[in-house]
Amino acid sequence: MPTAAIYPGSFDPLTNGHVDIVQRGLKTFDKVILAVANNVQKSPLFSVDERVSLARECLGHLKGFEVDSFNGLVVEYARKKGVSVLLRGLRAVSDFEYEFQLASMNRKLNRDVETVFMMTSEESFYLSSRLVREVASFGGNVEGMVPEPVLRELRKKYAAKTK
Ligand code: ADP
Repeated sequence: MPTAAIYPGSFDPLTNGHVDIVQRGLKTFDKVILAVANNVQKSPLFSVDERVSLARECLGHLKGFEVDSFNGLVVEYARKKGVSVLLRGLRAVSDFEYEFQLASMNRKLNRDVETVFMMTSEESFYLSSRLVREVASFGGNVEGMVPEPVLRELRKKYAAKTK
């Protein structure tokens, strides 16, 4: 039976840490659906549509990769898609507590959905979308931290904001 996993998150923006989890996820699962959550942050830098198209541009060539967006509970979304695995990345110990709470809550909400964690690679353990946004907003160089199309769009966003 083919196995699919949903990789949910904000991806505001997609970083090389996310890319790494998707690439490695595809070695374990036949299908990885990167699912952009539409409700987590009140004022995201990139709209959901922008995040979806960036993920498609950066990773769309990978076999078994899909991009989507969802509203509301991720377990509900998983049920609708007929997928029973949620894929999440773990960086430092600091991620653990939140991820543990989230996975436990999701299991409480739907016993049939299991969360699977992958450890970050050593090149991207320090990467977070929040830090990338912050550094880029001050004109810092985030080359090598995000895929090329994200770099291009970050430059456009902040050039427009400083005008
Ligand atoms: P959220 O919006 O839930 O805070 P993100 O959209 O930033 O999360 O990330 C989605 C998932 O990717 C989370 O499981 C997060 O822990 C993981 N992740 C983010 N950055 C990295 C990274 N550098 N290495 C590995 N996993 C990461």
